[in-house]
Amino acid sequence: MKSDFKKELLKAKKEGYAIPAFNFDNLEMAKGIIAAADETNHPVILMVTESAAKYMGLDFVYEIGRIAVKTSKAPILLFWDHGFDIELIKRACDNGFDAVMLDSSMKPFDINVKETIEVVEYAHARGVYVESEIGHVGGKEDDRESKDKGFTNPQEAIEFNKLTKVDALAIAAGTSHGLFKSKPELQYDLIEEIVNSIDTPVVLHGSSGVPHEALQKAISLGIVKVNIGTDLKIANAKAVCEWFDQNENGYDARKFGQAAIDAVKNAAIEKINVFKNIN
Ligand SMILES: [Zn+2]
Repeated sequence: MKSDFKKELLKAKKEGYAIPAFNFDNLEMAKGIIAAADETNHPVILMVTESAAKYMGLDFVYEIGRIAVKTSKAPILLFWDHGFDIELIKRACDNGFDAVMLDSSMKPFDINVKETIEVVEYAHARGVYVESEIGHVGGKEDDRESKDKGFTNPQEAIEFNKLTKVDALAIAAGTSHGLFKSKPELQYDLIEEIVNSIDTPVVLHGSSGVPHEALQKAISLGIVKVNIGTDLKIANAKAVCEWFDQNENGYDARKFGQAAIDAVKNAAIEKINVFKNIN
């Protein structure tokens, strides 16, 4: 069902849980995520990155999103994840997305501010919410690889938040996109300091592979949106591989597709259960 992105995040903050934001790359993944939301009756953010949207076709993505919101019993928030191309972000605003993210976190502070303001003005005029990133979450983001891992500077976060009037703020606090090459070390003091300095909901990216207790601790400190991409991709790929291991001469896309849907659903439910009822 349709819901309000910011209201859901503020409600989560008040009640001490987090809303998972799951990426989908194809119809099977989207169906698995929606089924998880329905089964747990927990709000879910259904996200697509620019390159995933281009792979599926923009118009197909808009329709998948529209139908997901219309048919789900649980709140589904459509989210344009890691937008680098401002024109595509604007198209998402015009095609039913509840919120969009601009990622200009690699650019200098003042450029990041300027571009975020441009997106905020366009989106807010259309009732769409905006997330932006300050500091840089390294790793493999969408199709871009970054080794840079600068933690967010709390003073910059406060200033950025004030100047841009974003609705959600992604921070770099020790997680990384893609698979972790070393053990993630979440910066709890930094998370706490930023959460307590601004009213804007704070978001953690790159949370696949982070131990559940670490995520729960971050959520208990006030993180309200946790992005999960890689863990669902792994569930999806493993399910298809296992299906072919068991069905050597198999060829029916509906059958290995169903295995993928079920696996993504189960992986998403596992995360939802970790994120809810923290308190
Ligand atoms: Zn991210």
